[in-house]
Amino acid sequence: MLLHLDGKKHQIRVLLDTGCSIVLLNSQTLEKLAIPKKKRKRAHSIESYTGESVQGAGQFYTEPMLLQHRKHCAKEKFEISPMEADIDAFLPFDWITTHLPQGAWTNEEVRFNSAECMRECTWYETGPFSLTWDESIATNPSARVIGYVSAAAEEDPLKAVPMEFRQYLGIMGKEESDALLEH
Ligand SMILES: [Zn+2]
Repeated sequence: MLLHLDGKKHQIRVLLDTGCSIVLLNSQTLEKLAIPKKKRKRAHSIESYTGESVQGAGQFYTEPMLLQHRKHCAKEKFEISPMEADIDAFLPFDWITTHLPQGAWTNEEVRFNSAECMRECTWYETGPFSLTWDESIATNPSARVIGYVSAAAEEDPLKAVPMEFRQYLGIMGKEESDALLEH
C-alpha cells in the first residue's frame, strides 16, 4: 500500500490481520520515514496474542494518514509498536470488515472494491480537501463567527462571498440544489 506523508507517497508492506484489534505501525518504519509521532501522558497497554504487554507499544501514535491501495483510500491513525522487520503495518479485524477485501481467496491480488468502498473510500472522500465534522465546534466560542456570516444582514449578500468564489455561486444556489434533488 501507499502511505501518504507531506505530499509524498511511501510504499509500505501491510498485513491484514484478523487477530489484531488496532491499527499498528512498526516503530522502525516510523523512524525510517521520519513520521511525526504524538505521545500519550499515560501509555495504553497493547497486548500480544499471548496476553503479555508489548514493550515499547501504547505510548506513541500518529496523526491520521492516508493509506492508499490502487484507488482505495482510507485515513488511519496508527499506534506505534515494535514488530518484526519485514512488516510495516497491521490492519485489524475492524478495518478488514469495514473494507471487505474482494477476491482475497480466489485471486492473487486483493482489491478493496466493494460497493461501500467504491462509494466511501475514494480520494475525494478521504483526500486533503474532504470535510470532516469537528466535534469541538459545538463548544468553541470563536466557532460562532461562522454563524454570523450566514446571518449577516448585508444589503447585498454577494459582498460576503470572496471574489474568487463568486464564479461558483451558480452551482451553490438554492435553486440549483433543489433542481438536483429532484433527480
Ligand atoms: Zn474501503
